[in-house]
Amino acid sequence: MNTYPFKLVAKNDSASTTVVRLSDEVSIGCQDKFTVIAGPCAVESEEQLVACAYQLKNTGVNILRGGAFKPRTSPYSFRGLGKKALILLARIKKETGLKIITELLYIKDIEDVTEVADIIQIGSRNMQNYELLEEVGKLTKPVLLKRGFSNTIEELLLSAEYIMLKGNTNIILCERGIRTFEKYTRNTLDISAVPIIKQISHLPVIVDPSHACGKQSLVPSLSLSAVAAGADGIIVEVHPDPSNALCDGVQSLDIDSFKKMYQTIKSVALVLGKSLN
Ligand code: PEP
Ligand code: MN
Repeated sequence: MNTYPFKLVAKNDSASTTVVRLSDEVSIGCQDKFTVIAGPCAVESEEQLVACAYQLKNTGVNILRGGAFKPRTSPYSFRGLGKKALILLARIKKETGLKIITELLYIKDIEDVTEVADIIQIGSRNMQNYELLEEVGKLTKPVLLKRGFSNTIEELLLSAEYIMLKGNTNIILCERGIRTFEKYTRNTLDISAVPIIKQISHLPVIVDPSHACGKQSLVPSLSLSAVAAGADGIIVEVHPDPSNALCDGVQSLDIDSFKKMYQTIKSVALVLGKSLN
């Protein structure tokens, strides 16, 4: 019997798993696949997006991340190109066939974001924005729900329940690090969230190593830990010129480092019987 406070997202029989399907070839949550989502923190320009997208596609990536609307701690930081970025994402999607994940910050942008996005991202800061959760719950479009940096795993699952109660079953969860007393990293990756979520929920779970550690040099290790812990994938920040990035350059991999990491992930995933998608 389910004794959890959430119902629809709970794992009721040990074999049940949700697979979020984006196309015949690309899906998240298959037991024999590990999904690598990559791209810049924010869409900054056509040049930046194009430079990133083609390199990532050639490496084997199928899903491109890129923020149009950026939630920033400081109102003086770069807050994204907004609709201009959505237009650039739509163009690159058409040209490359890459699937797009981008964040929805406000309900007012839901139609514009849904038109371009193959996966709608709900960020850490909005994990408990229940109105926003219910609105994406009314769609069928896949949703990536990121764990709030001060939220428990149970609260994450209850937020997913808000989405699913409205009818949308296409939910992917994301562990992106939580706030602790540790200062060396931007957040602390709660790697145990992965096997815990796998035990208590049927939803796929991916890891964001970039926001978890906040440091380029740590991203490959955390990514490998995600594979080993049984995650369904990672979402990682990659920039063609990290030192000049407008947002999160210090935690973004350059293209060459990403390619190297991708090959290592591929080998480790293979040992666990998974191929990359
Ligand atoms: C992001 O992925 O662009 C982002 C802002 O992450 P988070 O919501 O986890 O801080
Ligand atoms: Mn970022």
